[in-house]
Amino acid sequence: MNSKEVLRVANRALCDLSDALDRGESKELTKYLEVMGRFHQYSLGNQILIASQRPQATRVAGFFGWRRLGRRVNKGERGIRILAPITVRKRTTSPNHDAVSQNQNDQHTCPEIRIAFRAAHVFDIEQTSGTPLPAFPHVRGEPGVLLQRLCEFASDSSIKLEYAAGLGGAEGVSLGGKILLRTSLDPAAEFGVLTHELAHELMHHDGLKRSTTLKETEAEAVAYVVGCAVGLNFGTHSSDYVRLHQGDAKTLADSLGRIRETAVRIIRAITHDDIVGLPSTQSDRSPVIVHT
Ligand SMILES: [Zn+2]
Repeated sequence: MNSKEVLRVANRALCDLSDALDRGESKELTKYLEVMGRFHQYSLGNQILIASQRPQATRVAGFFGWRRLGRRVNKGERGIRILAPITVRKRTTSPNHDAVSQNQNDQHTCPEIRIAFRAAHVFDIEQTSGTPLPAFPHVRGEPGVLLQRLCEFASDSSIKLEYAAGLGGAEGVSLGGKILLRTSLDPAAEFGVLTHELAHELMHHDGLKRSTTLKETEAEAVAYVVGCAVGLNFGTHSSDYVRLHQGDAKTLADSLGRIRETAVRIIRAITHDDIVGLPSTQSDRSPVIVHT
């Protein structure tokens, strides 16, 4: 693929992504968000407790929380211990030995109600079975040897690649000179996540301040363009991801040059002279994106 063809493929992919962003969130994303919104956001302290007891945990909920989501905790599973806040009324005759007072000094200002903590247990999704949770739209396809070449591109760019079982629910992390990827991603997902994290490495570790929206839009757009160029089908994955981070077609348009430059660099590094192209399901249109 010569430089002109790489650019044509990149432009066409960016055009498709921009159109998808204009169309709004997919039905899959709506369903995903609806269910994910029912998961409790744990405090930092509890996140640390969960990570220390079960580092590979991705989605956690209490026993009844899982029941409400149509899943049951498997027999014999040991819960992850967290601290749940409870409101207790001050007892005047005997102190509450089960609860640790968080605010022992304000007896005069608020004598009746106190916040205390009790031990509670939550379970990771892997400890449950039942109705599958709606998944975030998947990347599909078979990157084949190109995944290996992407790993080689990382190492040629002095970026270390390591795999970890639990990344606090994330699939990958860019640490500046090092990328962590979650183990057991399928090849298409790994290709998408690795390209996304490589984009962060190449674009966002220069010390300049950028919003999360901008960084995530840029990284995911690069992943989308590279993925399309090697024939993977991202479906609504990237447009939904960008929208999830409050990005839109305008955010994309503002960064077009940087995105294209990074994507083309990766495509050229991994495809050499191989014949690649967009999946046939995507439109073949003029490679021009106009957004003001
Ligand atoms: Zn990211």
